Amino acid sequence: MTISQIAEKIAEGGKNIVFTGAGISTESGIPDYRSKGGLWDRFKPVYFDEFMASKDARIEYWKRKAELYPDLVAAQPNSAHKALVDLNDAGMLEAVITQNIDGLHQKAGLPDEKVIELHGNTCRVRCMSCNKTSSIHDAQKRIESGDLAPECGCGGYLKPDTISFGQSMPVEETKKAINLSMNCDFFMVVGSTLLVQPAASLPDYAKRNKAFLAIVNLSETPYDQECDALICGKAGEIVPQIVSEARRIVAG
Ligand code: NAD
Repeated sequence: MTISQIAEKIAEGGKNIVFTGAGISTESGIPDYRSKGGLWDRFKPVYFDEFMASKDARIEYWKRKAELYPDLVAAQPNSAHKALVDLNDAGMLEAVITQNIDGLHQKAGLPDEKVIELHGNTCRVRCMSCNKTSSIHDAQKRIESGDLAPECGCGGYLKPDTISFGQSMPVEETKKAINLSMNCDFFMVVGSTLLVQPAASLPDYAKRNKAFLAIVNLSETPYDQECDALICGKAGEIVPQIVSEARRIVAG
């Protein structure tokens, strides 16, 4: 059975990487982008150069963030996020590489150094001039009091610390993700279409190192044919089963 096959690989004691996308957080009430009813059905993205060039674009961008803010604050890690913490506590997790910006892996209890955030974190705000970071809660308070496109004390534009369309990927995180993938023994994708770069290439790096490639997702990915184990199912149901089976194997 596939769950035990995946669990056995995890329990072998190699370098285990879990790669997560928006699908791991849908059961926490955060919609993904591409599924029907996902965020792309509701909003068109504001590109990075538009954000930097126009105050109207910045107002529009912050308006959308403000609309999503209550859901962000309310969102709690689900059983899949928690199972990955259990996996780490059992000494069987090298790192989580995530496309997610919701901070739910850390909220569940994974230490910061175990989470590689490829697209940033929406709980943080960054000044586009001096690079200083601050909490989204401070920015939200300013928006609620009528400051619709908040700026830093230095005059720079404040922006949620996430990677917008047209914005460069974070260099260090991308390097780390590639390096971890190239050197792992096991790579499990949870809840990602694997269509966005660099996510689209990471399983390939892992396969080149002869890693075992597992996928847990509700819809197709470009790696479905070449992976070693494929489970079409909900992350919140499948991931805890995989982790508890791996822990059972290790406990003997
Ligand atoms: P996507 O929306 O393209 O794909 C999500 C995938 O998860 C889909 O294949 C879907 O079938 C699957 N899925 C949905 N619910 C699932 C569940 N319960 N269990 C298993 N699979 C499930 O998302 P993506 O490719 O991960 O990301 C696109 C970009 O959107 C990401 O780069 C990310 O930065 C951003 N994003 C982040 C969040 C978040 O932080 N939670 C939410 C939406 C979008």
